[in-house]
Amino acid sequence: MDLQARLESVVAVARESAKKVDADATFPAASVTALRESGLLGITLPVEVGGLGAGPHELVDAISSVAGACGSTAMIYLMHVSAAMTVAAAPPPGLPDLLPALANGDVLGSLAFSEAGSRSHFWAPVSKARRNRAGMLLDARKSWVTSAGQADVYVTSTLNADTDTVDIFAIPADTPGISVSGDWRGMGLRGNASNPMTFDVEVPESYRLGDAGGGFDLMLQAVMPWFNLGNAAVSVGLSQAAVDAAVRHTSAAKLEHLDQSLSALPTIRAQLAKMSIELSSTLSYVHQAAGRLAEPADDTVLHVLGVKAAANDAALRITDAAMRVCGGAAFSEHLQVDRFFRDARAGSVMAPTADVLYDFYGKAITGQPLF
Ligand SMILES: Cc1cc2nc3c(=O)[nH]c(=O)nc-3n(C[C@H](O)[C@H](O)[C@H](O)COP(=O)(O)OP(=O)(O)OC[C@H]3O[C@@H](n4cnc5c(N)ncnc54)[C@H](O)[C@@H]3O)c2cc1C
Repeated sequence: MDLQARLESVVAVARESAKKVDADATFPAASVTALRESGLLGITLPVEVGGLGAGPHELVDAISSVAGACGSTAMIYLMHVSAAMTVAAAPPPGLPDLLPALANGDVLGSLAFSEAGSRSHFWAPVSKARRNRAGMLLDARKSWVTSAGQADVYVTSTLNADTDTVDIFAIPADTPGISVSGDWRGMGLRGNASNPMTFDVEVPESYRLGDAGGGFDLMLQAVMPWFNLGNAAVSVGLSQAAVDAAVRHTSAAKLEHLDQSLSALPTIRAQLAKMSIELSSTLSYVHQAAGRLAEPADDTVLHVLGVKAAANDAALRITDAAMRVCGGAAFSEHLQVDRFFRDARAGSVMAPTADVLYDFYGKAITGQPLF
């Protein structure tokens, strides 16, 4: 089956359940099953491990299409891809079957980085591993983990036992000592199950991704490029859905006493035009960034930093404008524009936050070190 056909089958399932997932704040189980069965969980993993071997452009298309149907499903999908690409960059020797299982959909992954102590500075865990005879003892309190209690493996950060460098471990969900706390409710992406989790676990050292202390480099080289690009794609998908809904509604809604549609009003038309133009320019930039991942260049880092911030902020403006032009029809929820608006608010908050990325980008173009 080609990528497009796989994607259409997942999008159909995600669209069907999106309204209820949002209203009830339930994990989108049917969409995730469809993702597992489609092979799309392995979209960017190499064919040799059972993945589809696709690249950044295809990932942008896949994630944005799913986001247009159900933002929660798209973010769950992105966290899986980000975890899988990190494992692919440095497979843990103690879990030789992990990568093929992440590729074929047997295993759903997520990232467990954020800690209350360092907030959105995800690169700086404050929890610290200890050693015992069997391996490593982790005692990490993670403040937000997408797919908490639903994923099969958590790619988890902590400070190294011997130095204050960062380690990343793959921790299977059936490891004793993992618990999910709280019943997470967000204003958007309400199906994400982004609950706090505790990892009070003992794992072999061979579950570590890469060398001791290599976690920070993995975050920069494997996590950030894929996560930032995919997060931008979520923003683009939500923006597209908002533009489509706004055009549809304002074209159909009638002012009968004037015998015209809402879109006949010049102010509405101008708003629609601005939304559409901002969406097009953002999509071009996102694909330009995808190109810099596919074929690295001198300015790849700038694109990795800029793409998420730009697309997140564009989505804030576009979905806000959609709420405005659709008026009460959007406010009363039946258009689902409010869902796109609420889901879009997550992007700029998720780490690296848009403001942190602007700061990093500014440092990069003025020759200052990022950290
Ligand atoms: C829907 C959702 C899903 C998530 N899923 C995951 C997940 O799967 N795994 C995971 O590890 N985490 C996840 N997170 C957590 C996320 O990545 C952030 O860590 C979390 O949102 C931090 O929020 P905070 O308000 O504590 O950040 P804070 O650090 O308190 O930020 C508050 C404000 O300060 C600003 N700020 C902070 N530092 C700087 C700086 N240096 N320069 C400029 N401005 C700054 C921020 O931009 C923000 O505007 C998720 C979050 C959300 C909302």
